[in-house]
Amino acid sequence: MTPELQFHNSATRRREAFVPLDASNIRLYVCGPTVYDLAHLGNARPAVVFDVLARLLRRIYPHVTYVRNITDVEDKINARARETGEPIASITARTTADYHADMAALNCLPPDVEPRATESIPEMIAIIERLVAGGHAYAEAGHVLFSVSSYPEYGRLSGRSPDDLLAGARIEVAPYKRDPGDFVLWKPSDAETPGWESPWGRGRPGWHIECSAMSWKHLGEEFDLHGGGHDLLFPHHENEVAQSCCAFPGSRFARTWLHNGMLLVNGEKMSKSLGNFLTVRDILTNGPWAGEAFRLFLLRTHYRANVDFSMERLEEARAELDDYYALLVRDLPKPEPDDAVVADMVAWVLEPLADDLNTPLAVARLRDLRAIENVLQVGGSMTAVLERAGRGWKPKPGQAGAALREAAEVLGLLSSDPQVWRKGGGDDAEIEAAIAARLAARARKDWAEADRIRADLLSRGVVLEDGKGTTTWRRG
Ligand SMILES: [Zn+2]
Repeated sequence: MTPELQFHNSATRRREAFVPLDASNIRLYVCGPTVYDLAHLGNARPAVVFDVLARLLRRIYPHVTYVRNITDVEDKINARARETGEPIASITARTTADYHADMAALNCLPPDVEPRATESIPEMIAIIERLVAGGHAYAEAGHVLFSVSSYPEYGRLSGRSPDDLLAGARIEVAPYKRDPGDFVLWKPSDAETPGWESPWGRGRPGWHIECSAMSWKHLGEEFDLHGGGHDLLFPHHENEVAQSCCAFPGSRFARTWLHNGMLLVNGEKMSKSLGNFLTVRDILTNGPWAGEAFRLFLLRTHYRANVDFSMERLEEARAELDDYYALLVRDLPKPEPDDAVVADMVAWVLEPLADDLNTPLAVARLRDLRAIENVLQVGGSMTAVLERAGRGWKPKPGQAGAALREAAEVLGLLSSDPQVWRKGGGDDAEIEAAIAARLAARARKDWAEADRIRADLLSRGVVLEDGKGTTTWRRG
């Protein structure tokens, strides 16, 4: 059974039935990280939200292409290299590996395609050439700028009028701009700054053009879904639309736009000056439980709402996971693979996800399945839960437990080994063996395997610290 998917589309500000452009290949683009520092908690939210979306789409459609980019050319990276003296290639490689390890610890599956901006420079130049030829961009003093006044639809996605745009945004006034709202597509690079040859001299792209180029390269001129944090709606996404729709007249770029709300910490916007700035790595060092608990914490709030992080809420999520794993660690009877009650229980949990990714309701239903199985295992009453579900189930032992596992997988939850969860990340001997295997991989320069082992240990709450010739580890 295919549930009808509905999403709140930021572009129309309405909830709409999802109609794929091509049901044999659902195409999803999500703005990925700029790799110059560790991911903070706010960066983790879109990764988790759109991981759930991709998992749901994969369950319904035969093929999904989920593209999430790596921005590895951007002025923040250049600035970091100047401050620290670390080569750019080293900063981006290290930070990309950290990002992969952190997202794996949050149980986010890798996207199907993870393009690097530096590998898509020819596509960026091609789009900019189209924009110049179409009168939507102009070259001035080594820069190429998008002419906002050339595109009457500008501001439609974010719902801002051209006047608001100028008043609200931090607009850089520069002599090479014809209009203060015009934004940079290409800029000149000096000898110390990364640059590529182009029709406008040696230079580098602006940030916005990177996503237009990578989505075009991997998903085509028009695709189904575009996700990102609400903070990217303006100007980043507005600019992506302007670039892509003007370069490819007649195309609509992304059909449906999904924006996740912001993450607050203890009720306030996260900031270094307030002292409430937290990286994903900070959270993971709390213990092997922390990655999955943080994921559950996020999914307990609807993706469009702001979510308020606190250690208490993380601990609440951990306690909920402890309850699930305490049930799953039991030797539950295995129902038949085509058991109709199990299938209906799974469908009941997933139904709210089809309704604009209502993860809080799906999580509440997971809790109900746990309650049913728990009654069957240890006694008690399940009348209230069965009434709430209203599906006429007469559950037999094992059915709700099996459904719990299957439905949780779509949310990216409960995939840890219950024994390992209860032991807190595995035996010391097992961890030491994994570290030895990683050192051996490093010795033969198999960096991918070394990173994989490090990510696997991190997902179990084991943090490695490489010193001179030795590696030490700690649990959280
Ligand atoms: Zn983007």
